[in-house]
Amino acid sequence: MANSPATTADRRHAAAKRYIYAWGGGSAEGNGKMKDLLGGKGAGLAEMTLAGLPTPPGFTITTEACNDYFANGRQLPEGLWDDVLVAMNEVEERSGKSFGDAANPLLVSVRSGAKFSMPGMMDTVLNLGLNEETLRGLISLTGNDRFGWDAYRRFIAMFGRIVMGVDGAAFDEPLEEAKAVHGANAKDTDLTVDDLKGLVETYKGVVREATGREFPTDPYEQLDLAIKAVFASWFGKRANDYRNSQKIPHDLGTAVNVVTMVFGNMGDDSGTGVAFTRDPNTGENVLYGEYLTNAQGEDVVAGIRTAPKIAQMEQDMPAVYAEFQRIGQQLEQHYRNVQDLEFTIERGRLYMLQTRDAKRTAAAAVRIAVDMVSEGLISKEEAVARIEPAQVDQLLRDTFDPGALKDAQKIVNGLNASPGAAVGRAVFDADDAVAWAERGEKVILVRIETSPDDFHGMAISQGIITARGGATSHAAVVARQIGKPCVAGSSDLVVDYAGKQAHCSVTGIEFKQGDWVSLDGSSGALYLGALPTVSARFEEQPELQQVLGWADEIRRLGVWTNADKPEEAAQARAYGAQGIGLCRTEHMFREGERLEIVRGAILVANVATRAKAKASAGEPLSGEEQAAVETFDAAMAKLEQLQQGDFEGIFKAMDGLPVVVRLIDPPLHEFLPNLEEQLVKVTRAEDAGGASEEDKELLATIKSMHEQNPMLGLRGCRLGLMIPDFVKVQTRAILNAQIAVKQAGGHPIAKIMIPLVGHVNELAATRKLLEAEAEAVRQAAGGIEVDYKFGTMIEVPRGALTAGEIAREASFFSFGTNDLTQMTFGYSRDDAEGGFLLKYVEEGILPVNPFQTLDDAVAGLMRIAVEKGRATRPDIELGICGEHGGDPDSIHKCERIGLDYVSCSPYRVPVARLAAAQAVLVNAAENDR
Ligand code: ADP
Ligand code: MG
Ligand code: MG
Repeated sequence: MANSPATTADRRHAAAKRYIYAWGGGSAEGNGKMKDLLGGKGAGLAEMTLAGLPTPPGFTITTEACNDYFANGRQLPEGLWDDVLVAMNEVEERSGKSFGDAANPLLVSVRSGAKFSMPGMMDTVLNLGLNEETLRGLISLTGNDRFGWDAYRRFIAMFGRIVMGVDGAAFDEPLEEAKAVHGANAKDTDLTVDDLKGLVETYKGVVREATGREFPTDPYEQLDLAIKAVFASWFGKRANDYRNSQKIPHDLGTAVNVVTMVFGNMGDDSGTGVAFTRDPNTGENVLYGEYLTNAQGEDVVAGIRTAPKIAQMEQDMPAVYAEFQRIGQQLEQHYRNVQDLEFTIERGRLYMLQTRDAKRTAAAAVRIAVDMVSEGLISKEEAVARIEPAQVDQLLRDTFDPGALKDAQKIVNGLNASPGAAVGRAVFDADDAVAWAERGEKVILVRIETSPDDFHGMAISQGIITARGGATSHAAVVARQIGKPCVAGSSDLVVDYAGKQAHCSVTGIEFKQGDWVSLDGSSGALYLGALPTVSARFEEQPELQQVLGWADEIRRLGVWTNADKPEEAAQARAYGAQGIGLCRTEHMFREGERLEIVRGAILVANVATRAKAKASAGEPLSGEEQAAVETFDAAMAKLEQLQQGDFEGIFKAMDGLPVVVRLIDPPLHEFLPNLEEQLVKVTRAEDAGGASEEDKELLATIKSMHEQNPMLGLRGCRLGLMIPDFVKVQTRAILNAQIAVKQAGGHPIAKIMIPLVGHVNELAATRKLLEAEAEAVRQAAGGIEVDYKFGTMIEVPRGALTAGEIAREASFFSFGTNDLTQMTFGYSRDDAEGGFLLKYVEEGILPVNPFQTLDDAVAGLMRIAVEKGRATRPDIELGICGEHGGDPDSIHKCERIGLDYVSCSPYRVPVARLAAAQAVLVNAAENDR
């Protein structure tokens, strides 16, 4: 070219902004960091060129140009086209060919490339620049007729479909017909030159027919149309929908890459392929991929022919294979991550066309991270940062064999409330579940919804599905707690308890008691039949443990667990829990014979408590009162004994680690039969001749305890203050368990926690009661030290706002964020989640379900409580024990608030360890900026 100025950038000045970044001949104007401006593909091509790798020369039109195109009413911005022409000149110089030249034609591909790869964006057009003249040049240059016509028919079909909007089937059908002439199993490589010429004519007719115009022959017109088509695809419906679903902003825009064509379809010394630098399924450090000789572009992915494994290339073209292997390693070193590569070989010469960080399975992610640390490629911090919390969760769950899932018959979908795969025979009642399980059967419990009465059935089932309820419904919370897969709120599931069967209201697919079903808690689905599963055990995953070990070195937050039983505590400990942040004593009340004892105590609790007050004031008691006190005390004594045994088990399982025991929390009616059921029972019995005194009394008691808003009613510390024996008995059970375990040589660390405190006086009064009891235990302990910390939950907004006063009485706070969220929003959690809350999230009124991820206002209350609590008592210990304690996003907030630990269900402990470390890394990165 005549008088070319010193730098290429100088030559492009027509546009007000710099819209074009070129690469080739070993240099590039962009680089790998410029993904925002150049898109992933453009940045990768620039970076590979800078790294000295063989790329065909080309240029990227920026995402900014795309945005300006739309701002400009779908017109190329001023000066852009002139700059494209200059950039094309540069490509011509670098490739030694000319665009539109009949003697030595340059062909290009036009490729979309946004920051994130996106389905629905425009496909790539290959071989752009072909027409009758340039085709002749291509053929005489290569001496390859067949190749030329093959490229031409591909171009017309691609451009016709992608840029001109012609239905792809109109091109596929003639192609299939042409192949069929050569036999039933003919491949595209069987087509002769005449076949291909025929196809070109047919295709031109197809375009004419469909668009009412001739196929454009001017290469620059082709280029102009292709660039605009890429831009336009940014706001295509599929791309729009995808961005909405993935919360990708709409104003990123797409770049356009114009790249010199290299030809993989020039014969058997040419080819094209895709490969990963390591196996993305297992993480094994071997090249993994597929390639095809004598093929172009998307042939491999489209499955035009069955592509051989990449290892085959080692036989076919050993030198190229070696080079490719070396390049793969170089790119891995360069990006310090596994790469997903696209390449083409033209007559024995290798060209790199794309590189990006590879997507991978959970197992591969962990293995690759560990391997790369031992190879010295990445730091432990990077390894930890690269694993997604959901991947850890996935690795700890059984899954269904993906092959089997494909052919399985789905009954219903629902909310994926607790992950994992479960197979069993359907039962519709907790007692049936127990009966079947006792016969050695595996069962899946199917309920409209569950209540505390169903616990024994849930505990013995493989998995649970409910028709109603959300992510923190009883079924979901308990299932996560005990590590069982659960699908909640399958609204299409119609359950018929009486008939012991269920069906889908949409498809009518039905199943009855005893039928095998398979429940996928990870995706939220129920299938007919017993599907094969793949199991996952923490103990057998040393690499996962390795990564979590690194996470432990990084994280500041402690990770504790919510566990009510020794087995749960042991499981959590194996997962790395550093304490129990919440041991809910009332869960122990429901087991087996205990419920009867508890009910016995509750029925006389009020009378007995009043009587005791009278007695201590020196007033005489009636015979009835006397009897109530005796019944009550006997029941409580039994309860005390049983609970002491429970606590001993827990202390042993957590030997040397702290155990926070929360005193009784729920309203008492939860331990009694349902009011309506009891009313019906008594009414029916009366109609049939008379109800028993016992049933009538029970009904009267239930009625007397009935509350309009039980979750805001007599529960938590309020209950303990009304019926002080609950506090006394539980205190004795905890401390005597401590003594017993100490005597046996153990190291129990007890912390006693009072729930639902809103006013400091509630806590002070409870503490007085409790300390008197502790003193009595101490006296009787015969020299063994009785030692405990006293603290409270912060879960009532008033408690959070007055935390400075409350901290005078408490040596630790644990944020009960389930209640705190419920009371801050004024939502009844049990009702809201299955109801309007789902809609709220769907319609974007709320960004997330605040019972799943900590809301910022609730976090704000926590922050106030933390500041005030620390101001009063600088060494106060601060944790969270709500469901949020196991949620990665919430854990990030807890890190920022400055809590000391999070406590979550045993199965979320590994995830929490990772998330807590990532929270530190994210904060450090933010502080660096
Ligand atoms: P996608 O985003 O769908 O991967 P690409 O732009 O990477 O689209 O193009 C798909 C394939 O087309 C590439 O993997 C490559 O095989 C082929 N291709 C693209 N550009 C060229 C080129 N300049 N020369 C040869 N083949 C190309
Ligand atoms: Mg690609
Ligand atoms: Mg609570």
